Amino acid sequence: MTAAVIILAGGSGIRVGSDIPKQYLSIGGRSILRRTVEAFTGHPEISRVQVVFRPEDQELYDAAVAGLDLPAPVPGGATRQESGRAGLEAIADDPPELVLIHDAARPFVDHGVIDRTLAVLKQHPAALPAMPVTDTVKRGAGTADDPLVGETIPRDGLWRAQTPQGFRYADILSAHRTHAGDGLTDDAAVAEAAGMTIALVEGSEDNVKITTTEDLERARRHVGADIRTGSGFDVHAFDDGDHVTLCGIDIPHDRGLAGHSDADAGLHALTDAILGTIGAGDIGQHFPPSDPQWKGAPSDMFLRHAAGLVADRGGSITSVDVTLICERPKIGPHRDAMVARVADILSLDTDRVSIKATTTEGLGFTGRREGIAAQAVATVSLS
Ligand code: MG
Repeated sequence: MTAAVIILAGGSGIRVGSDIPKQYLSIGGRSILRRTVEAFTGHPEISRVQVVFRPEDQELYDAAVAGLDLPAPVPGGATRQESGRAGLEAIADDPPELVLIHDAARPFVDHGVIDRTLAVLKQHPAALPAMPVTDTVKRGAGTADDPLVGETIPRDGLWRAQTPQGFRYADILSAHRTHAGDGLTDDAAVAEAAGMTIALVEGSEDNVKITTTEDLERARRHVGADIRTGSGFDVHAFDDGDHVTLCGIDIPHDRGLAGHSDADAGLHALTDAILGTIGAGDIGQHFPPSDPQWKGAPSDMFLRHAAGLVADRGGSITSVDVTLICERPKIGPHRDAMVARVADILSLDTDRVSIKATTTEGLGFTGRREGIAAQAVATVSLS
């Protein structure tokens, strides 16, 4: 049987305390919506994944699902019920036999839940994944400021509803049309109102709905951080001059370094390493050497720019490690100042910044004192 899924991503997500709707926030480097969509695009029985969204989120949506082959999202309504119906109407041109309706904010749905939900639809017109209530349930009394226990409610037979909720497509579309505007909170309630038998199927404790900031933090702990490493390498030739600039520190020397900016090979290598962690190209793409505005520019601005791009991705720099390769000048006397300078530029503790130096034992261009090379590694953590 053909099966489609409708993913409801029309919420504004204000409860996680972010300007960005929660379904577009990232967990371990992937947006919640993308995780949710990929749970279904990777399932062999799902032939269509239809997202319902808010048109004002178009840019966030495009970024979240970049590279995925999905039909255009359709606008939702003012309520969950309206959004569910909008999704069902959107696939009426090519109606599937079965349809699942799923919350975008449940990114950890697994194939087991999807399989069980689809399997039950062979015998019943509707299926609801759910988990039995195991905590003792109280009805509250008193006031919001002084909450009290009113009574204990027997938990026997109580279930916590999850999604994806499964239906025979024609039946649930008809039920939604009949009960439009009834203010029902999920699609199973629409099916109930239409008198359908709804089978309970085993959900999953991992299939949580991310509603609050605490849910988001718990989900991020569950997934773990997305740790990225990037590397960079740079060379500048010696030229006439009386100092070189390395890792942001001016060092008196009988030569200078040739280059369009301040020729700080250390910060250039480090900038490339940081850009490398997020696939953001190299320093020359962001600051073309052909552009006169970077002539003589202090290289800390390149480094700040790269760090800003990582921050924009919700990431933080974990550590950086730079190796300067030259015979002269001697780096050792300036190393502490370089570490302090880089730590300051990147707002890092100094134990997360390593600057080392080596010679090449007189070999090669650095050994012949024709120039200075630098290599760098950066590690970032994306949430
Ligand atoms: Mg350079």
